[in-house]
Amino acid sequence: MKTSTSGAFFFCFVLFTAPLSSSFPLEDGTNIAKYNFVDAVSRFRVEFSWRNISCPVCKAIFTVVDLALLSQTNTERVAHAIGEACTKLHLADKRVCREITELFRDDVIRALQESVLWPTEACAVIVGPSCGHFDIYAPWNISLPHVPKPPVVPPTPPKPGSPQSRILFLTDIHWDAEYIEGSSADCKDPLCCRNGSEPPRWRHREAGYWGTYSKCDLPLRTVENMLQNVVKAGPWDWVYWTGDIPAHNVWAQTRSQQLRELTTISRLIHKYLGPNVTVYPAVGNHESTPVNSFPPPFVHGNYSSHWLYDTMAKEWAPWLPAQALVTLRHGGFYTVQIQPGLRLVSLNMNFCARENFWLMVNSTDPADQLQWLVRILQESENKGEKVHIIGHIPPSLCLSSWSWNYYHIVNRYEGTITGQFFGHTHVDEFQMFYDEETMSRPLGVAYIAPSVTTYISLNPGYRVYYVDGNYPGSSRLVLDHETFILNLTEANSLEGGSGLSKPDPSPKWTLLYRATEAYGVPTLFPSDWNKLISSFVIDDGAFQKFWYLRHKGHVSEICEDVCKKTVICYLRSGRYEELRHCGQLDEFSEDDIPSITKSMC
Ligand SMILES: [Zn+2]
Ligand SMILES: [Zn+2]
Repeated sequence: MKTSTSGAFFFCFVLFTAPLSSSFPLEDGTNIAKYNFVDAVSRFRVEFSWRNISCPVCKAIFTVVDLALLSQTNTERVAHAIGEACTKLHLADKRVCREITELFRDDVIRALQESVLWPTEACAVIVGPSCGHFDIYAPWNISLPHVPKPPVVPPTPPKPGSPQSRILFLTDIHWDAEYIEGSSADCKDPLCCRNGSEPPRWRHREAGYWGTYSKCDLPLRTVENMLQNVVKAGPWDWVYWTGDIPAHNVWAQTRSQQLRELTTISRLIHKYLGPNVTVYPAVGNHESTPVNSFPPPFVHGNYSSHWLYDTMAKEWAPWLPAQALVTLRHGGFYTVQIQPGLRLVSLNMNFCARENFWLMVNSTDPADQLQWLVRILQESENKGEKVHIIGHIPPSLCLSSWSWNYYHIVNRYEGTITGQFFGHTHVDEFQMFYDEETMSRPLGVAYIAPSVTTYISLNPGYRVYYVDGNYPGSSRLVLDHETFILNLTEANSLEGGSGLSKPDPSPKWTLLYRATEAYGVPTLFPSDWNKLISSFVIDDGAFQKFWYLRHKGHVSEICEDVCKKTVICYLRSGRYEELRHCGQLDEFSEDDIPSITKSMC
């Protein structure tokens, strides 16, 4: 029965979560059968999500697969049966079905064998609580020290002329080593513009030299060109780099490839920025293989993440002190003092991710990371030190308990945490944190920066943050930010003398916008962002401007009605499933809530 349970859940897991798990929520709209990112709403988990499978369909699948697997207890045969089913249901082409099944087989079955999951619970996981009951992700609480929260001091702008730190922020590079100019940009696979991308019959677009507006990642030359331009745009006080190095070919990745890509990109960044600029990395969900597979430290041996963290510790040793490398090797997170008065915490957000199937074994504060964070924050508060937090996956996309505990920590230490920086969604957005008592006073903002990669149909880009300091008593708050992009339309087609266009040999990375100017706000304090969101509700022009910038200047679909409401709710929701703020928006009626809820969950 155990194998049957594992097999059945594995079936749904591989077919419905693996292809979309590469970058939540961006790819959460993805299904391995339909890579149809038709509009912005699909990016918010509306279309083709595995959660959209109806309850009877889910139960039917489990009944059939369970019966089949009862007589096939051998892992090989189970995997084969799943691969066949994937192909027959046309969930992907044969090669992708076979490869992704192979890739996920051992790890997922091992995780499931260690967890306590019954077939009846699976549909509750897949479809939602309306289809059954499960408690794999039982609620839990971190404990805070018995130290009263210091009085809240509202932020004030620094004196004119005060020094500012200029921080380069890189995220989601997603280098595709098999990117080929001229290959098919519209293929059936989850990733195109590469070796073996079969063109569909109905249209044919080719991959561009510098990148492509499609479900494509970047060639190495674009990553190097970005780094060359970043050096020219310096000097930088330091760099935050929040992960996702490999491409989205998640059905065919090996540990050695992942490590080669980690090593190549780490060394390139080091080479271009030089030995005097410190880079502070965070671990993305794509660094591992299978994607999202991050066993917490209770897993030992070959299944553990040592193969990955050890290489990270080796490659990042030029940037990080020995003490940081100790926790990096243990759990992929660390803390380091950047300057006197400013500390960084780099979190491994894979320990909060519902796509990390190892958390089905035990999701209670994996690696004791949040309890560790509380200890660091209390020590900083005691010293009067400010703290920046970086991580890959934004906290609102985390498992519920993790997300609510994190929100609680941000509330308690609002005077200490002066910056939160994430990536993962590939688009340019942010999320608000409010006081837990009234949910009306904005006290924090998590910045979600745009990706370096084009995936999906975006311009390549990078972010710059301006932070108060370094001088005695500096607030270390974010005062402004800038976004630079490579306009692919221009970069790929420089007008030649013969009337033919060719790629620009030295394309320009240009300033897309500066936040204070674009949004007409004096500072970027949480209250400014909160007012801006309110203006989106009543001023559609302001919202559409945000929507354009959110996609790094290349918008594929307009956003109105439910899409707009969903986006506004999302900006207000620094924690998972927080919909209270939707109800407070004048434009929203009670009738809107179900569709918004569906979009957000
Ligand atoms: Zn990514
Ligand atoms: Zn990611």
